Amino acid sequence: MKRAIRKVAVIGAGSMGSGIAAQFANGGVPVVLLDVAGPEDDRTAPARAGLERQLKAQGFMDPSAAELVSVGSIEDDLDAVADADWIVEAVVEDPVVKRRLFARLDALRKPGAVVSSNTSTIPLAQLTEGASEAFRRDFVITHFFNPPRHMRLMELVAGPDTAPETAALVRDAAETVLGKTVVDCRDTPAFIANRLGCHWMSVAAIEALRHGLTVEQADAMAGAPFGVPRTAIFGLLDLVGIDLVPLVWGSLLGALPAADAHHHHDLTAEPLIRRLIAEGRIGRKAKGGFYRLA
Ligand code: NAD
Repeated sequence: MKRAIRKVAVIGAGSMGSGIAAQFANGGVPVVLLDVAGPEDDRTAPARAGLERQLKAQGFMDPSAAELVSVGSIEDDLDAVADADWIVEAVVEDPVVKRRLFARLDALRKPGAVVSSNTSTIPLAQLTEGASEAFRRDFVITHFFNPPRHMRLMELVAGPDTAPETAALVRDAAETVLGKTVVDCRDTPAFIANRLGCHWMSVAAIEALRHGLTVEQADAMAGAPFGVPRTAIFGLLDLVGIDLVPLVWGSLLGALPAADAHHHHDLTAEPLIRRLIAEGRIGRKAKGGFYRLA
């Protein structure tokens, strides 16, 4: 039977997972959205909170589309992936957590169901370490950008064992259902956009801080004159989540060949970044970040 995407499961209902789930629902595809379990009396609360954030986001999601999304918890409802044609993983950027989840998904998914990771920086080869042959055939990285509702780009990374029809199926659904522009990337550290973007952002952020610019001045300078949104550097870090800085930069710098890593700055080492994380001021999803948003 020809493979088609009739039902999707998204695991992880944070900034990215909830946005990706909302896009599928807007495209008319039923979605199961799972996150870690909430308190005993409200186990689906984290996933539901993700969906509610999308409903509030500038009227992006049609309330009737929200009816296509069923929420649950990874602990209680993971078997709901069994009839999904495409399972999108968007949990925390940690290869161990992701690999453990993949092993569980592999046991539950139906034969031929695609599994993709939204990792920003973890190489595909690392994500599929120890995975079954069948899993490797059906696995790709689909790297969406934040916020998924506005960003058209999706990077698609296929591994040496990925079946060509798996990559073709994902490409077709991303283009036709989600309206994405799909760019094929090799399995290189941070792929294309983040390899460039992380370098640019760390140089710009560190220079701005060292020259004593305010975040507003730095964003004004690095934004409009270069044709990028006014959130440029610090606003973008608030949007992405400052807590992701150690994970993303750590993973990127760990994966780069030494000669390349040498040219990259480690934004995690910046005292201001460390202080904001320690204070829980990790950006828009918390009580503000570089900009006071709360
Ligand atoms: P987020 O922190 O908003 O969401 C991550 C979700 O993972 C949370 O809802 C959390 O409850 C869940 N989680 C935490 N620990 C878990 C565990 N042990 N098991 C299962 N779930 C767990 O993060 P995000 O920004 O949505 O990032 C998700 C993925 O998407 C990451 O791999 C990240 O690198 C990638 N990504 C992020 C961005 C971005 O700009 N934020 C862009 C592209 C890709």
